[in-house]
Amino acid sequence: MGLKLYNSLTRRKEDFEPLEEGKVGIYVCGPTVYGHAHLGHAKSYVSFDVLVRYLRYLGYNVTYVQNITDVGHLTDDADQGEDKIGEAAKKEKKHPMALAESYTCSYFDDMDKLNCLRPDISPRASGHIVEQIGLVKTLLEKGYAYEVQGSVYFDVSKFEDYGKLSGRNTDEMLAGARVEVSADKENPVDFALWKRAEPNHIMQWPSPWGMGFPGWHLECSVMSMKYLGKTIDIHGGGLENKFPHHECEIAQSEAANDAQFVRYWLHNNMVTVDSQKMGKSLNNFITLKQAFSGSHERLTRSYDPLAVRQLILNSHYRSPLDFSDAALFAGQSGYGRITETVKAIRKRVDAAAEGELDNEVADQLAQLKDKFEAAMDDDLNTSVALSVVFELVRLANKLLEDNSATSTTLEAVDDLFGALGGDVLGIVRDEYPQVSAADDARVDNVVKIVIGERSAAREQKDFARADELRKQLESCGIILEDKPDGTQWRWK
Ligand SMILES: [Zn+2]
Repeated sequence: MGLKLYNSLTRRKEDFEPLEEGKVGIYVCGPTVYGHAHLGHAKSYVSFDVLVRYLRYLGYNVTYVQNITDVGHLTDDADQGEDKIGEAAKKEKKHPMALAESYTCSYFDDMDKLNCLRPDISPRASGHIVEQIGLVKTLLEKGYAYEVQGSVYFDVSKFEDYGKLSGRNTDEMLAGARVEVSADKENPVDFALWKRAEPNHIMQWPSPWGMGFPGWHLECSVMSMKYLGKTIDIHGGGLENKFPHHECEIAQSEAANDAQFVRYWLHNNMVTVDSQKMGKSLNNFITLKQAFSGSHERLTRSYDPLAVRQLILNSHYRSPLDFSDAALFAGQSGYGRITETVKAIRKRVDAAAEGELDNEVADQLAQLKDKFEAAMDDDLNTSVALSVVFELVRLANKLLEDNSATSTTLEAVDDLFGALGGDVLGIVRDEYPQVSAADDARVDNVVKIVIGERSAAREQKDFARADELRKQLESCGIILEDKPDGTQWRWK
């Protein structure tokens, strides 16, 4: 037994062994902060959050670094086009750094809601220009790079291992290279380390090659090296970044350091919405803020951020995930089942008789814990791990029904919910908001007034208004259920 991870570099599952016993360094490519985070970001960062949480659960001392790209990421994801942040800043009439700052805050706000732990270090590309220039100088000195009129390019032909991660050879890359390649390059597959800035480019810095800005790939090599050393244990990122981004990171780092850059490469798969690739033109581009508030025309309601998290964990990080209103709704009801059970167990702990731990229950809990760990050890099979949490839900509900469990037994159940569902999967909270009986009664009265308004709207066949009221209540966490004897409500 022990943790096995699928290494994209070797294309197989491997036993995980960190470079230094008991310690793990992880670097994950962070967002380019030119817009609000969307469902694709959620899939990636929830997946790596669970990896970090599980490693800590296993007792490792983890240092988690995730960068913020605030400069150098061009619109074509390679060496051409405008700076994504510069372009968005023009549209929003802001300084690029003001734009980056506001979307960085927005990103952390969304990730907090998804219960993703903050990285230990969130370095910004713009804060590491000196180090990036240093790496370019090293690569020039070692003969891996060349300068043309103020831009510096990595000479791919000098680095034998180029393509080892993506499995592409240079001929294939050449065939796929864009036609409008920069005239500066000696070879179309070479990539920019440093780009000469045109006078109207706001984000530019002095360098030995004149005013310019770093290439997008450079920051990750530099910042991972600075905070985690020349060889890091785990590097994560989205599948779409495998080539060219990660391939270029390997080339820069290994050429400069003469050392292996990354021991385990992990890539999460992508998301689709209603079975289509997410894209602004398809009107299926859903930001997390829209999902949490239900303010997107593809969504019929708002979704609890932890229900979104649970839906993500319901599939493997290496599998694609399709978001749809129906899938989110199913995720929400599954999340509700877990939450209601945990709350009921905690309530019962206080009322239950004191006494010893039930041996039979203790055995069942130990089995569930083993089963959960076996699933997580198998390349983070969160879908099976989640099904174990549902087995725990069933066990807990049985104990609640027969009403004879001692407080010690119920506490043991709650502890396991906390460890597996809370510490590792991040879907069980330490505390849920408490509502007093008096507050409950007041809320009930207010909701009944709204239910009355809704019924009146329906009688007048104003279904749009009725639906609107239902949605508004739902965004406050209140679900309406139409039953034969009238409409009832419950907390989400
Ligand atoms: Zn990166």
